[in-house]
Amino acid sequence: SEQNDRLSVFLLTGIYRFEGSNAMFIDPVRILNRSYTRFRVLPSAYYSRFFDSIADNSTETQNNCSRNSKKRKRNKKKEKSQNLNPREQIADQRHQEVRSMLLKAHEALIKSSEFLEIVMNLRNDGCDKEKCETNVISQDTELDFVEVGSVWQAPLYEITLNFHQDEMMEKNAGFPLFQFYEQRVVQVFNNLVANEGSSDVEAEFLNHRYIVPKKSCFYMSDLGKIHNLIPAESDRGFNLIVIDPPWENSSAHQKLKYRTLPNRYFLSLPIKQFTHTVGSLVALWVTNKEKLRSFVENELFPKWGVKYAATFYWLKVKADGLLISELDLFHHRPYECVLLGYCHRDDMNSEHLLRLNHVPNNQVFISVPGDYSRKPPIGELLLEYVPGFRPARSIELFSREMIADWTSWGNEPLHFQDSRYFLRK
Ligand code: SAM
Repeated sequence: SEQNDRLSVFLLTGIYRFEGSNAMFIDPVRILNRSYTRFRVLPSAYYSRFFDSIADNSTETQNNCSRNSKKRKRNKKKEKSQNLNPREQIADQRHQEVRSMLLKAHEALIKSSEFLEIVMNLRNDGCDKEKCETNVISQDTELDFVEVGSVWQAPLYEITLNFHQDEMMEKNAGFPLFQFYEQRVVQVFNNLVANEGSSDVEAEFLNHRYIVPKKSCFYMSDLGKIHNLIPAESDRGFNLIVIDPPWENSSAHQKLKYRTLPNRYFLSLPIKQFTHTVGSLVALWVTNKEKLRSFVENELFPKWGVKYAATFYWLKVKADGLLISELDLFHHRPYECVLLGYCHRDDMNSEHLLRLNHVPNNQVFISVPGDYSRKPPIGELLLEYVPGFRPARSIELFSREMIADWTSWGNEPLHFQDSRYFLRK
């Protein structure tokens, strides 16, 4: 039946499109797995949150829950009784405009009981429970790239790339034990480090192991060095640019996770210089703060030369399909937005301009969030709106992970490439 077709498409691709809806559910683990040949993403490491609370019925958790919900109710009361300031009123108006659309998207998920069962098991996917449980991550051994990158020896640090030649294996199909390795040692910071091969690379840096996807590269540096990534020729530029800036935020938790930057720093991002001659689709993750939204609309996009096209929504659910927080909670919405726009170079011909695709507004993608502030990989969902050629030339700015066929830039693009997040196939 059609439902079965959709389920099997999901199991293959990680994308489930609800019938007659602008919503889809995505499993980032399945999407990311397409980047790897010899490894796969460990679901229990990706889904580090939003599964425990459901299975765990201990009184401790229940107590915490009821305490939290009491606190929440108090806050809600406070919100209602407090008059919203003009800025908050605009934010609330934005929310009211999309509220029923988001509810409808969520309803599509809740109504698919057969599919919900699959969602519930995403964390144990394809690995027996014991194996997944034993892989529980210990936080203390993670490398802090920002710290390592800021010491005086940083320019001297090198990463060892161990290339695995699949082709050689195939050519020597009669000798399965024959394996060919090539080792390359290169500067790790302020350097474009690439795996041009069609197989994963295992990399070593300061006694840590990282998995680098096929046909991917990273440039690990501070914002001050981002200009080194501007292509010398514009036909080497990018036609898809995804950006998730470290916006300033009052969340104390965030402050412990990564450093943030004042808005004015993002004005100087060379988006136009990164753009290919065919133009680019720019996807910018934003928070729900009105001050930020108006900054992007009135200052940032105009400064970058980006013309706004549409807004997409990421709706966050727990493993049981329920929203991670109440939809109407003012300071903790269970969704985030991606603002989409087109950028074109001044030297672009008008023929290309006319061909910039049309993006429908208000698409919703639903998923169970991974680690704190980790965004789902949306590149594939955007592909049909990307101007020009395929495969797209894609770059992610302020990235913490790598994807096949993408360039990743940020001060910690290897963060989620740590081998602890992977299983050998
Ligand atoms: N999209 C990422 C993900 O899904 O995991 C999260 C990106 S997070 C919002 C912002 C990133 O910008 C963090 O990794 C942070 O370390 C990085 N960052 C902060 N200040 C930076 C700077 N001055 N230069 C480069 N990267 C910076």
